[in-house]
Amino acid sequence: MEFTVPDPLTQSTTALAIAADRAAKYLATVHDRSVAAAPDALAGLGGFDMPMPTAPNDPADTLALLDQLGSPATTATAGGRFFGLVVGGTLPAALGARVLASAWDQVVFSDATSPVGVKLEQVATGWLLDLLGLPAHCSVGYVTGATMANFTCLAAARHALLERQGWDVQAKGLWGAPRLRVIAGEQAHVTVRKALSMLGIGTDVIEYVPCDPQGRIDVGRMPEADAATLILAQAGNVNSGASDPIADIVARANGAWVHVDGAFGLWAAASPATRSQLAGYDGADSWVTDGHKWLNTPYDCGLAICRHPAAIHAAMATQAPYLKVGGDAAPKDMVPEFSRSARGVEIWAALHSLGREGLRDLIDTTCRHARTLAEGLRAQGFEILNDVVLNQVVASRPAPRGWAAALAGAVQRSGEAWFGPTTWRGREAVRFSVSSWATTEADIQRTLAAIAATPDAPADA
Ligand SMILES: *Cc1c(COP(=O)(O)O)cnc(C)c1O
Repeated sequence: MEFTVPDPLTQSTTALAIAADRAAKYLATVHDRSVAAAPDALAGLGGFDMPMPTAPNDPADTLALLDQLGSPATTATAGGRFFGLVVGGTLPAALGARVLASAWDQVVFSDATSPVGVKLEQVATGWLLDLLGLPAHCSVGYVTGATMANFTCLAAARHALLERQGWDVQAKGLWGAPRLRVIAGEQAHVTVRKALSMLGIGTDVIEYVPCDPQGRIDVGRMPEADAATLILAQAGNVNSGASDPIADIVARANGAWVHVDGAFGLWAAASPATRSQLAGYDGADSWVTDGHKWLNTPYDCGLAICRHPAAIHAAMATQAPYLKVGGDAAPKDMVPEFSRSARGVEIWAALHSLGREGLRDLIDTTCRHARTLAEGLRAQGFEILNDVVLNQVVASRPAPRGWAAALAGAVQRSGEAWFGPTTWRGREAVRFSVSSWATTEADIQRTLAAIAATPDAPADA
């Protein structure tokens, strides 16, 4: 295709073509290269230690340096054998959408600054609520990740719980405010505690509820809640994948605000095979999930979902709340950020390209891979410590202390796969999260082979 570009932007189109070419070459090898960056690639990062250039550089030279030194020093999370954290890769359409949206350079502040950015977030919001089985009037805020989504929802909860007691926390802050109670499972994610700290509620206030062997809140031991209480439930434990008994928790809420951290686990709602694990979750007040985990969008994509859009608006609006909320409120008034990227574009592209069936297959296939992995590990003499109900596997074995970190380190160094050590109920273990659309059955077998080929580590190796 022949086209000419006005002068100031020719360099941009050239840079884009160069970047696309280099990115394609990167992806062509990422599936089979070492998952962890190789030692010489890490040493190569020293090449970035240079004085700040005085004269301008040709963008092509800047990109060449970035690719030569940077690409080898990445962790191959875009391939099929990264099982760390609970994150996936990037779906093809979501990757392309990010590139296109980068060229658009939209600031999704309001529909005046980005009509398309706002529109796609509205469309994605409708699709998401439908897929996740949540009430259609809920608001969805597009933030950087589940940490900020927890922060956003808990800010709304703080507002609502104090407003009931006649306290305007937005104006008065917490100086002299009535006390709130917080009930959380002892397995609550660290970022929920971080959100409480950032909100000035603190963590000392948490009344921890003991959990069962899978990490689920033992509802029988949950303290009685009241209308000044925030209850923090979890859909998808980062180790076991188990979800709290949310229906029972909601039934005992007694006027409390129930928040569900489902950073990856909430996506279980998108498949009939796993949805029942979340029973009752739709009765909560707020929910959190990530695009950049199981949905496989690029990073910086978290979702703050709330049944009470007015409470989100009250906590996040930059003007006096006028309570024109939900679908109508400007994005800047529903999330912490003022200026931000068009995150909904990637969510929209992921959902549009997958369709309902594709998303269900993504959930079902990764869960099946997790079961295959667990079977293979059992065959090698590992004990599987969790019920493999989702995409998570926690495996242990009787071995000298330090074995889990030694095994994970040895396999990482082999370049064959990437998973990490963990501690589960006092036992050393290795933890796998099968979250990437790119993982194949062959990747699971190759990972099992790499583990089988790793000799038992000596004690404290
Ligand atoms: C990953 C995770 C978080 C934090 O999410 P980020 O997107 O990394 O901010 C919170 N809660 C749970 C259960 C998680 O798995």
